[in-house]
Amino acid sequence: MSAPTDPAVVAPGLTRLAELDATVTQCRACPRLVAWREEVGRVRRRAFAAESYWSRPVAGFGPADASLLLVGLAPAAHGGNRTGRMFTGDRSGDVLIAALNGLGLASQPTSISRDDGLELRGVRITAPVHCAPPDNKPTVAERDTCRPWLVRELELLRPTVRAVVVLGAFGWQAALPALSAAGWDVPRPRPVFAHGVRTTLHAADGGGGKLALFGCYHVSQQNTFTGRLTPAMLRGVLAAAAHTAGLATH
Ligand code: SF4
Repeated sequence: MSAPTDPAVVAPGLTRLAELDATVTQCRACPRLVAWREEVGRVRRRAFAAESYWSRPVAGFGPADASLLLVGLAPAAHGGNRTGRMFTGDRSGDVLIAALNGLGLASQPTSISRDDGLELRGVRITAPVHCAPPDNKPTVAERDTCRPWLVRELELLRPTVRAVVVLGAFGWQAALPALSAAGWDVPRPRPVFAHGVRTTLHAADGGGGKLALFGCYHVSQQNTFTGRLTPAMLRGVLAAAAHTAGLATH
């Protein structure tokens, strides 16, 4: 497959989520992130020196008919950028997948590699930026360049998605304009991010569709190691969102 040059041109023409996922992984639209993701894969972390890093954009993960969508920030340099799957192979993934498994929304409590057998039930995980950024900090321009992928993902999930959980303030800032572009009426002033915040978006076409939007602190080590985000806090938001999305939980 030839590399797409501009997500804003390519993404709107994709008609299936599997096609979107495959196309995203070919993207090279952000020169700084392309250089970084590939350099990280060349230099590697000592513990992973024998591994071959993915070093490409990381697509969303989970079923195409998900009713709950989780939106993070971007792949971790030695997590998703190494393994090629969202929240896989790092501490953030350990925390998130264990929480999903505890609710019955993931088939196993660990997320180690693309072929570890993990399945998500009714849940899909994605990010507003699909490439690992230096210091976990994409620029505003990179966030905006990547947005069409998320917009299209939201559009393709529209028939089934009922709730979205955004992990962290960066994801929140990135998700709101993407939700708006995907046909959801985002109120002005925009809802402010906070852990546990919940709001309901209505379909901009007036057709009566609704989408519940939840805020949750990001599952980064910075938050989980310090206790800013406890397993109980994470479970609380995920359980509420799953309930709203109509998913049965333990
Ligand atoms: S961050 Fe997004 S737009 Fe930029 S290169 Fe990666 S996939 Fe493409």
